[in-house]
Amino acid sequence: MAEALRIGIIGAGLGGTAAAGLLQRAGFDVTLYEQAPSFSRLGAGIQFGPNVMKTMRRLGLEQKIEEVSCHPDYWFSRNWDDGAYLSRIPLNAEHDRYAATYITIHRGDVHEIMIGAVDPALIRFGKKLVDLEETAAGVVLSFEDGSVDTVDIVVGADGLNSRVREKLLGPEDPLFTGWVGHRAIIPASRLSGLDVEPCVKWWSADRHMMAYFLDRNCSEFYFVTGEPAESWPRGVAWVPSTREEMQASFKGYHPLVQAYIEAADTITKWPLFTRNPLPLWHKGRIVLLGDACHPMKPHMAQGAAMAIEDAAMLTRCLSELGTADLGATFEAYRTHRIERASRVQQVSNANTWLRADEDPFWVYGYDIYGVDLRG
Ligand code: FAD
Repeated sequence: MAEALRIGIIGAGLGGTAAAGLLQRAGFDVTLYEQAPSFSRLGAGIQFGPNVMKTMRRLGLEQKIEEVSCHPDYWFSRNWDDGAYLSRIPLNAEHDRYAATYITIHRGDVHEIMIGAVDPALIRFGKKLVDLEETAAGVVLSFEDGSVDTVDIVVGADGLNSRVREKLLGPEDPLFTGWVGHRAIIPASRLSGLDVEPCVKWWSADRHMMAYFLDRNCSEFYFVTGEPAESWPRGVAWVPSTREEMQASFKGYHPLVQAYIEAADTITKWPLFTRNPLPLWHKGRIVLLGDACHPMKPHMAQGAAMAIEDAAMLTRCLSELGTADLGATFEAYRTHRIERASRVQQVSNANTWLRADEDPFWVYGYDIYGVDLRG
């Protein structure tokens, strides 16, 4: 029986975790391997559009996520200095049209809820993949701790610096985009008395700041920026930053932006990377998803969304098209994903999304479960 095949997913990020939960529910024998020694509440803020929440519904998590997240009615884009409104995009104000909720949340909180949807017996923490080799018996996975496992199918969900991608396509550093992002989480109590909008992006010619609440009670506020930078030191994940550095970078910005910066205690600075489109998404028994496959600048807030949609489409293809001809099934997956993921990657990298009034229905109204696989 096809479902008796063992599927090994490398990486328990948002894409790999979604894939594990969905494949497990579809009856597959799945193991999720993650290099981190255990789950931890990593990251800062994340937005999930209604397109993602339709997959959370399939995982039985929609209500749980809605209960703890913020649900902004609108996305506002505002001019950097005078605060003039550049766009006012309905999010939950058009909930029924998108057929799901738009949420903003702490990434660690949503990740924890998603991990909870995967049978703990299927998750192996402390397993950093160092090598994989396709043999007649299956794909042999070798981990840094010296252990070895053999599976029938490998899903590379191991992010920007994917080892699985490297095995398929050879070593290649990701491309520094020439952009960095400052991030901070602020207790909302420090902004009391100010007219703080739940989901707002402030734009000037060459930089921006996105800001939103992280929870249902609006007790934590978060900002993330995009700013030009000439270079980034190789191998450095992030560096600490300061209010003074941000004040210099956002000099002349609106008083509300100055207030967000003033209220921030711990500020960090991160590089933004991308890759050129990959010449292949799958080979033999190995298939890629998410940032391992199509990383992008985060300016559309849809990178994790694309990883999760990939997970949903891959699960559909394996369930509905079967595993007898894996090459054909993986190619159907790629065909049903590449156009949308590439379009999102392009718009995200261009950093134009919702700056002016536009209809976001092609992103938020999308339902991966409505796609005709034979079409
Ligand atoms: P990752 O989340 O990177 O997960 C990869 C996992 O694989 C990790 O757990 C890692 O530890 C593990 N791993 C790596 N190598 C190995 C190995 N060799 N062996 C075992 N495990 C391994 N997206 C949105 O949808 N909405 C947003 O609002 C949003 N905001 C963002 C803001 C910023 C500043 C940034 C940088 C990104 C943002 N994104 C957003 C994009 C999103 O974070 C990524 O696209 C998403 O996390 C990709 O998910 P993934 O599962 O493919 O990879």
